[in-house]
Amino acid sequence: MIKKITDIFKEKPRTYSFEFFSPKTDAGIARLYDTVGELVKLGPDFLSVTYGAGGSTRETTTKIVDQLQKRFDVSVLHHLTCIGHTKDELTGIISNIKQAGVKNILALRGDPPVGVKEWKKIPGGFEYSYQLVDMIRSLHKDYFSIGAAGFPECHMNCSSYELDTKYLKLKIDSGADFALTQLFFDNNDYFKYIDRLKKAGIKNRVIPGILPIVNYEKLVNFCSTCGASIPDKVRAIFEPIKDNEKATHKTGVEFAVKQCQGLLDSGAPGLHFYTLNRIDPVREIIKNIKL
Ligand SMILES: Cc1cc2nc3c(=O)[nH]c(=O)nc-3n(C[C@H](O)[C@H](O)[C@H](O)COP(=O)(O)OP(=O)(O)OC[C@H]3O[C@@H](n4cnc5c(N)ncnc54)[C@H](O)[C@@H]3O)c2cc1C
Repeated sequence: MIKKITDIFKEKPRTYSFEFFSPKTDAGIARLYDTVGELVKLGPDFLSVTYGAGGSTRETTTKIVDQLQKRFDVSVLHHLTCIGHTKDELTGIISNIKQAGVKNILALRGDPPVGVKEWKKIPGGFEYSYQLVDMIRSLHKDYFSIGAAGFPECHMNCSSYELDTKYLKLKIDSGADFALTQLFFDNNDYFKYIDRLKKAGIKNRVIPGILPIVNYEKLVNFCSTCGASIPDKVRAIFEPIKDNEKATHKTGVEFAVKQCQGLLDSGAPGLHFYTLNRIDPVREIIKNIKL
């Protein structure tokens, strides 16, 4: 049965979940179903599917979420971004999402397309994600569980921890039930973040996002676009082996196992894995941690 994530939270003190990006081709989508078929054997509490950068995958995300829920009988969190959509369009998209039997939405702002530096809302669109959260909640009351994005190191365009905390609080006060975090590699960043949120009165679950390192150069590139930092200790481990795929994979799994176990042992309410649509790093990590 497809459940709201908040109902899953009532049953489980901690959850683990897998995120997949929406492929652009039919062949890619078919491969994704095979990948998910393997990963659901690990018993995740929910899955999530991204909304392509710049709003590029629109209907595809809803189709994939629908298929995953039907094929694997597991709750899927549908990512949705404000970018490129008017409020009226978003109203229609959310209705379609509801009609497809989806009960969980991750409400996001989105980033400008590659090459465009500054974020600009379109006429008739939203400026910030909390406005999307507010719209979903106002139109559909308690039908959806709503998630938001959290940034342990502060969002890259935000000038202070204080403001970053204030904006997450705004998302929660507008109706978000929980947050999933951006990737990070130093668990202290996550726990300091949780302390800041608690001080601001946020008691909702903030689930750490985990990216297994499988390709160091791609990681450096990705972190430069999303604003996550690569600590010196991570550079020191991975830079010397960056041309050795096998060694990077093995070391990446070992690093993630330690990071995940450290998070769980110190009270994190679960783990959200950025799978990059791959089976293996995540399967190996899950098998090696005490959930
Ligand atoms: C778990 C996770 C999943 C993601 N999935 C996707 C995806 O599927 N597709 C995609 O395109 N992107 C995705 N992203 C990336 C996300 O869209 C970007 O990180 C984006 O830059 C910020 O999104 P947001 O929802 O936090 O935006 P917002 O909450 O709107 O914040 C954006 C910026 O505005 C500032 N801000 C917020 N509220 C206010 C306010 N009231 N006044 C002034 N400033 C404010 C914030 O500090 C921040 O700098 C994901 C991120 C995470 C962490």
